[in-house]
Amino acid sequence: MLGLYVHVPFCSAICNYCNFNRGLFDADLKARYVDALVAEIERSAPAFAGRAAADTIYFGGGTPSLLEPEEIARIIAACTSSFDVAADREITLEANPESVTEARLAAFRAAGVNRLSFGVQSLNDAELQRLSRLHSAARARDAVAEARAAGFDNVSIDLMMWLPGQRTSDWLATVDGAIALAPDHVSLYLLEVYPNAPLKEAMARAHWSQAPDDDAAAMYTTAMERLEAVGLRQYEISNVARAGRQSRHNLKYWSDGEWLGFGCGAHSTRDGVRWKNVSATEDYIERISRQASPSVDARRLSPDERLGDALFTGLRLVDGIDLSAIDIRYGVDVWARFGDELQAFVDAGCLRHEGNGLRLTREGMLIAHEVMAVFV
Ligand code: SF4
Repeated sequence: MLGLYVHVPFCSAICNYCNFNRGLFDADLKARYVDALVAEIERSAPAFAGRAAADTIYFGGGTPSLLEPEEIARIIAACTSSFDVAADREITLEANPESVTEARLAAFRAAGVNRLSFGVQSLNDAELQRLSRLHSAARARDAVAEARAAGFDNVSIDLMMWLPGQRTSDWLATVDGAIALAPDHVSLYLLEVYPNAPLKEAMARAHWSQAPDDDAAAMYTTAMERLEAVGLRQYEISNVARAGRQSRHNLKYWSDGEWLGFGCGAHSTRDGVRWKNVSATEDYIERISRQASPSVDARRLSPDERLGDALFTGLRLVDGIDLSAIDIRYGVDVWARFGDELQAFVDAGCLRHEGNGLRLTREGMLIAHEVMAVFV
């Protein structure tokens, strides 16, 4: 089944490390954008034979929790009237802690959202300030409590490691603090400092640096061990979850699935074709308003690109790749084609090749990009 992704490009302030497709919140622009989103979703349905089936809707951003609950409800209604959305749908809303109250969260719940993904990033106020985030650790804790009070039984927390000036003990205090919030799912991201990010300049001015690579590896490994010790099982390089609480939407990206993206800059993949919507918000609204297609860069993937993507993303999963399923789908014996290059990683203890399975070990996850480079 399809996943439906809805991009919301508005934020209350722009974080100094951010490289996403986003801009400052503007109430008038937001209202026009929501109209355009609804029009794009409703217009896209006839392009597919019959009503295509979907089972996940994911509001990503930006800061989707800046939309009003009625706007979220309108967008969900556009999805359910245009697609055959399964009764047991997963509907995720990314939310920033400072943008919610218990009443707003209850209204999102009533609108149909059943999974929240909080951008917590850190539970250390000094680190949050260095990242120019608007919330404090206390606000993040309160937001998770408010989500529970509002009836959410599926709450995810995003954390970022390898922050400027962060010691291993600081990071593990954040991990322990997150565990104390009893989340259903946690995503761990490594901070990437882009060359033109304002954070890079701030780091130079304040003499903040990131921990050495070896420390970063230990931060990751120790965090995974602590999360797993409380029943949050790793299922992907950066993600852990309680049983049954894996992100069904994101699993489509890692298991050779298909999805449609709506809104500015959103990507789609279906029937071997990949396309992307125009990135600029005004440009997107303008195209929708004159009934033009918002998509650019539509491209049919070659069989080798599709195979490469399936292997590249599949290896992110802890369970790895089922080579017989790849053979059936793509007609390729992966080990016959790539085995010579992969054997060195097996010998080094980074990759396991058992029967029809191929998966990274935890050590292998630290150098995943090197292993994956074999496929692309
Ligand atoms: S809240 Fe998220 S999307 Fe918005 S500026 Fe900060 S990092 Fe970027």
